[in-house]
Amino acid sequence: MQALTNKVEVVSRKPMTWWERMYLPAILKGMAITFSHIFKKNPTINYPEKTRPFSPVFRGLQILNRDEEGREKCTACGLCAVACPAEAITMEAAERQPGEEHLYKEEKYAAKYEINMLRCIFCGFCEEACPKDAVYLSETFAPSNFQRKGFIYGKDDLLIPHPVNEPEAFAKARGSRAKNPEGHGNEH
Ligand code: SF4
Ligand code: SF4
Repeated sequence: MQALTNKVEVVSRKPMTWWERMYLPAILKGMAITFSHIFKKNPTINYPEKTRPFSPVFRGLQILNRDEEGREKCTACGLCAVACPAEAITMEAAERQPGEEHLYKEEKYAAKYEINMLRCIFCGFCEEACPKDAVYLSETFAPSNFQRKGFIYGKDDLLIPHPVNEPEAFAKARGSRAKNPEGHGNEH
């Protein structure tokens, strides 16, 4: 048969010796490798008690952002949904009513905002597309779930805690990828 590459190796078909048929050398070699690992540093960690530091380019669970007064930044423009290659984002827009200026930064806001985490590939395109710094990918893993519907994250799941009412929770959720509450939050 003609070979497509020059990487072909002819397999040795020579019969095994009596010693080889005992399989002892192979077993001893395997055990030697196993025992040699006893003296090596353990590469595993006790997650979730211990965690590894995240890579600066790690992209985790999405967060819907607020401004420094706690107003929602999203204007339901839909650019993130259009940019999403997995079609994981859906939303419904609503108009801000008089007296709601402390809740929503712009005249339009997302009354409903959902991300299907079973579709999301954490590419970050939604973050790149957003003109309002309203959505970004945090340093948190999307939690596991036993139900499919548990992976549909609504606005309540995605919205960052209020920076004035819950400053500690806000800072924790915001993480280190987004440093400036008002400016463009992305470091990359
Ligand atoms: S990270 Fe990518 S796949 Fe996930 S919601 Fe954003 S654009 Fe869609
Ligand atoms: S998150 Fe950003 S891009 Fe998506 S709808 Fe809101 S403002 Fe538009």
